[in-house]
Amino acid sequence: GHADPGLTESDSLRTLNRVFGYDSFRGDQEAVIEHVVGGGDAVVLMPTGAGKSLCYQIPSLVRPGTGVVISPLIALMQDQVDALRALGVRAGFINSTQDYDEQRLVEAEFVAGELDLLYLAPERLRLESTLDLLSRGKISVFAIDEAHCVAQWGHDFRPDYLALSLLGERWPDVPRIALTATATRATHQEITKNLGMDGARHFEASFDRPNIQYRIVSKDDPKKQLLRFLKEEHTGDAGIVYCLSRNSVEKTAEFLCRNDIPAVPYHAGLDARTRALHQSRFLREEGLTVVATIAFGMGIDKPDVRFVAHLDLPKSVEGYYQETGRAGRDGLPSTAWMAYGLQDVVQQRKLIQSGEGDLAFQRRAASHLDAMLALCETVQCRRAQLLAYFGQQQESPACGNCDSCLTPPETWDGTVAAQKVLSAVVRLQRERGQKFGTGQIVDILLGRKTAKVIQFDHDQLSVFGIGQELAEAEWRGVVRQLLAQRLLAVEGEYGTLVLTEESGAVLARQREVPLRKEPKKAPSARGSSSK
Ligand code: ADP
Ligand code: ZN
Repeated sequence: GHADPGLTESDSLRTLNRVFGYDSFRGDQEAVIEHVVGGGDAVVLMPTGAGKSLCYQIPSLVRPGTGVVISPLIALMQDQVDALRALGVRAGFINSTQDYDEQRLVEAEFVAGELDLLYLAPERLRLESTLDLLSRGKISVFAIDEAHCVAQWGHDFRPDYLALSLLGERWPDVPRIALTATATRATHQEITKNLGMDGARHFEASFDRPNIQYRIVSKDDPKKQLLRFLKEEHTGDAGIVYCLSRNSVEKTAEFLCRNDIPAVPYHAGLDARTRALHQSRFLREEGLTVVATIAFGMGIDKPDVRFVAHLDLPKSVEGYYQETGRAGRDGLPSTAWMAYGLQDVVQQRKLIQSGEGDLAFQRRAASHLDAMLALCETVQCRRAQLLAYFGQQQESPACGNCDSCLTPPETWDGTVAAQKVLSAVVRLQRERGQKFGTGQIVDILLGRKTAKVIQFDHDQLSVFGIGQELAEAEWRGVVRQLLAQRLLAVEGEYGTLVLTEESGAVLARQREVPLRKEPKKAPSARGSSSK
């Protein structure tokens, strides 16, 4: 910063107006900034898009010296610095993408007091040479971005981030601000502890996005369901459709175009020029839909995204929250719509089991998935569940702006149905030493003499045909919910069904199984239902 001593309260506001061109602060920004400008430490929890950057950029400008920003997002540093320079802020970065001369130049600028902001990757701070450099200049504030990295076991950045606790020891007079968007309360506490920031003031913004309507529907014919949703509620609107694979991104974009919904694909398999083109069209044009893998969206700041649709299940509630959070930044009504089905659960569980990573990693991935599934299967308010995940509570238990609140789902006693599914799995395993996937189990329960049923003599099982009271789609719904509740598990490449530790209680009639009723729909041909 270039400021002189005698600070007044409005220095921050004046910087906001003059440098950044904004009229007023949002939410907690002002309180955070005043606290840090005054020399206090802060731990800031704000959802993505809430405006965390200004919380350290303005103190860096207002306080004398250079603000040092520790960020693991090396790929974004150049863009961040360019954007700041365009505003007349003297910003620089040092990271591994630069050659020696470039680094030397930035270092010289820092030492000469010619930088307002200096961005560094966390691993730099483990080098004594970096600490030397920092002690040769004047530092106004340390900002630790993406501070949740410090709290995630097994995360690549963790040792680097742990080294950050020494900043407070070496520079006791320089205020520190740690910022994160993806923290639960436990993570928050871990950040404080691991960074040695016990005396810091905590700021916690609400994660609620009241203008976003959350809806999760049962997946049947996803592309058609999407089309109906868009035609009925979002004609002419801009939005993002997320798919898991590049292939389904391409197919879905084509499908929408064929049905008069202007759409472009975006995924890492497209060349850089096409990606840049599609992204800039999305930002400039009105009413364009981007169909994308999660590669799309980071750093995209388009205020009037009216819907975010998921055709595949996100891996975690954090991911879901971040992706849906790209809708409605302008505060106007927007929709977060998702189609979710049995195949999503099977596929994600398989991905976790067959994926790389040690056991601890797999366990964490599984618990992330469980939280996501709980959100999908809840019969309570989605928003309440989402906020509870981030350790927050809404005032009333029902928000009135999610599908659960708008059309409360019916539940039914699925205990007997659950017992039938589990019995079929047990019989196959105990009597035949066999494991099968959902399709075969459902065929057995329905008493269908398919070629595969005949081939394995499954019509001889005592459970053959004991499930005529439900339709195929309903049985698939039962299996899906059992998987989500961990009363059943999938295994291996073919997604075969196996029991869990909790299955026994259901079979022993010690436990009831309330289930969400599948929505009624027109009868459909066999095989096309419940993907
Ligand atoms: P975060 O890091 O929390 O995800 P950013 O700092 O990138 O969010 O800010 C998101 C967007 O909001 C940016 O385009 C930023 O310029 C804008 N923004 C932040 N604070 C304000 C404000 N007080 N007034 C207007 N726009 C703001
Ligand atoms: Zn609700």
